Amino acid sequence: MDDLWTRARSKLASRLSAEMIETWLDPVELDRVEGEVLVLRVPNRFHGEWLVQHYQPLVMEACDEVLTELGEDLVHPLRIRPVVDERLKDRVPAPKAREATVPPPAAAPVAPAPVAASPAVPDPELNPKYVFESFVVGASNQLAHAASLAAATTPGKRYNPLFLCGGVGLGKTHLVNAIGQKIREDNPNARILYLSAETFTNEFISAIKTNQMEQFRDRYRNGCDVLLMDDIQFIAKRESTMEEFFHTFNALHHFDKQIVVTSDVYPEHLEGMEARIISRFQSGMVADIQPPDIDTRVAILEKKAEQEGIPLDKTLANFLAQCVKSNVRELEGTLLRLAVQAELLGRKMDLELARMALRNAMPKSESATTVDDVQKAVCDYFGIRLADLKGKRRHRSVTFPRMLAMYLCRQHLSTSYPELGERFGGKDHTTVLSACRKIESLVEQGDLDVLGPLEAIQRRLGL
Ligand code: ADP
Ligand code: MG
Repeated sequence: MDDLWTRARSKLASRLSAEMIETWLDPVELDRVEGEVLVLRVPNRFHGEWLVQHYQPLVMEACDEVLTELGEDLVHPLRIRPVVDERLKDRVPAPKAREATVPPPAAAPVAPAPVAASPAVPDPELNPKYVFESFVVGASNQLAHAASLAAATTPGKRYNPLFLCGGVGLGKTHLVNAIGQKIREDNPNARILYLSAETFTNEFISAIKTNQMEQFRDRYRNGCDVLLMDDIQFIAKRESTMEEFFHTFNALHHFDKQIVVTSDVYPEHLEGMEARIISRFQSGMVADIQPPDIDTRVAILEKKAEQEGIPLDKTLANFLAQCVKSNVRELEGTLLRLAVQAELLGRKMDLELARMALRNAMPKSESATTVDDVQKAVCDYFGIRLADLKGKRRHRSVTFPRMLAMYLCRQHLSTSYPELGERFGGKDHTTVLSACRKIESLVEQGDLDVLGPLEAIQRRLGL
């Protein structure tokens, strides 16, 4: 278990700056993993709150990766619960002259923090941040949202079971939590069970081992009005867990108890899942979530920024939404990372910082897009010839696409300026540099004549 934190920290070390690791992670120790909660010992309450608010997605992601490497039967924690351990106080580094200004502990009663384990966040099984109000609806998730809201408003009626599917980080867990919270709000007595299929599996295994199957069944079949099970794909290929789940499902469904299940794929694509379970899922409402389009991404960023009190202007929101496309978690993580960096470096959160931060932190695109691909896509889009794109003509009909193509290569392929000069018909590197700067400044101004073609060409290239 100690290994988990050490390994997660080393993963984070490659994603965060050394100052941030030193300031925020080094003073922290892993206490234990309690189901879906990662209990961390922190030097003071403020540190814990900051950690949860700003690093939770990153830490969880790192732990997730470590646990996946360690073996498949381990519970993957989903959130952090900080507990104050004053002994760790000495580990907090003194603020460095300029760059590592720790945010002012104005509201933080650092000194008299209670020694007793005092969770900085309550211990709800449902994440209080994942409610309908904080969910941004767009074309990509409209159906899933509407079905979730309907299931939450009239549980056990029309959409039962509700099956939400979609890729990683697109909002399935958010919606399933929102359903639970809405049902609880409307009916505080509803007995809601929210858990991942992995936890279900672990509890099942442990019930068998400890001879407590009766209690287990009682809890899931009789003691439950609403069953919310995240990431059902986990039970595929686990024969006895599937069997148990099937009977649990039937027992609940028979009495019109609402069941909501999430999965990374459609029911019929759940490899290794029993056919009878798949057909139960298909008998209800199946709604998928697609990656959000650019407008939804911008709206999500703005909502998140508002929630977290992060200053975010439209240009920066546009820029970030352009860079991170397929995963909302990553989108949010990028925003938070940027905010933390701005805070620590005492700098304004602007495009320059964003570019710097993204260069280090973003995973490299796996697609092997080349300069030729970019040139071709740009020519196709503007309907001009490759010879003109690389040529010397100075008419705007070719100079603008040329600048855009250079910018795209620079941005996505990190090709050097001299090399780009060469690839664009033997131009001087300063010409390329000024072309890139020019487009950058238009992007910064949110110029739609630039953002429109950029978005379309990037989409075409899958960037
Ligand atoms: P999944 O369970 O599909 O992997 P999550 O529900 O954990 O994804 O979503 C990842 C993060 O993205 C969460 O912080 C969630 O709040 C956020 N998120 C996803 N979709 C939306 C949305 N439409 N509006 C607001 N936040 C979203
Ligand atoms: Mg999830």
